[in-house]
Amino acid sequence: MPEGDTIFRTARALGRALAGRPITAFRSTYPKLMQSDDDAPLAGQMVSRVESRGKWLLIHFSGGGTLATHMLMNGSWHIYRHGQPWQQPRANMRIVLETVDYIAVGFRVPVARMHTPESLRRDRRIPGTEIDVLSADFDVQEAMRRLLAHGDEAVADALLRQDVLAGVGNVFKSEICFVTGVHPYCKVAWLSEDQVRTVIGAARKLVRANVLEDSGDLIVTYGGRRRRTTHESKPGASLWVYGRHGEPCRRCGEVIRRRIQGPDARVTFWCPGCQKMPDGTDVDG
Ligand SMILES: [Zn+2]
Repeated sequence: MPEGDTIFRTARALGRALAGRPITAFRSTYPKLMQSDDDAPLAGQMVSRVESRGKWLLIHFSGGGTLATHMLMNGSWHIYRHGQPWQQPRANMRIVLETVDYIAVGFRVPVARMHTPESLRRDRRIPGTEIDVLSADFDVQEAMRRLLAHGDEAVADALLRQDVLAGVGNVFKSEICFVTGVHPYCKVAWLSEDQVRTVIGAARKLVRANVLEDSGDLIVTYGGRRRRTTHESKPGASLWVYGRHGEPCRRCGEVIRRRIQGPDARVTFWCPGCQKMPDGTDVDG
C-alpha cells in the first residue's frame, strides 16, 4: 500500500507535469466526476497546485475545485507523453487529465471526489496539513496530544491512525518502532513524554528521508523504488526489520519476529533484543 512518501512523490510529479497549463480534456469512468465536469468543465481550467495530505492526493484547479483521490491498495497515477504506450491496461483507467504536453492517468483509483473549498474543509477523512508528517505545518505538540489520546492502544496500532500521524503506513510503523527501541505491542500510555516525542520525531524523519531525493521521474510506481530507513541502499539492506522475520537483527543479531497485529490485522516486525516491553514480557512471533 502506498504510504505518505509515495503520495508526496506522486503529487510532486503531477504538479511538475500539469501545473500552470490549461487542461485540454478530462474523462472518468466515475459518473459523479463526469456530472461535476458537466456542471463546471475542467477543460480550459488550469491545475493550480497538487499536494499530498497523508495518503490523500489533492489536485487543485483554477476554478476553485479540488479533485481528491485516495489510492487504497492498488491505485496509482501515471504521467505520459501523448502517444506513449500506457503501462497498465485501458480497463484500469478511472480518470484522465490531459494538457497539451501530458496525459495524467489515474489507474484503479478507488476513491475520487470533486470538492468545493467548503466541502474539502468539511471532509473529515482528509487530514489537515498540521497532521501530515511531511508538511511544514506539522505541529509536534499537537501530535503528542493526539498520540497520547490513544493511551490504551499498542504503539504500532496508534501509529497507523491517519488522524494521529497522516502519512505513516505499515512499513514505516515497524521501522519507527525499531529505530526508537519501542516494542510495537507497548501501550502508548507506557511511554515517557520523551519517548512519545522521539517516536514522532522518528516518524517525520524516516518518511521525509524517502522524499528528499527527486529523480524527476514522471511515473511514480509503488513497487519499483526501494524504501529506505537504514543508511544502506543495497537490495535487502535498506530496512531494519520490515520483511526480515527469521533473519538476524542488524544491530544485535537476535532473530527478527513477525506477527499480525491490531484491529486491521496488519503485519508487524520487531527485534526481541532491541525492543523490550517495559514489563519484561514479550509476544511470540
Ligand atoms: Zn536487535
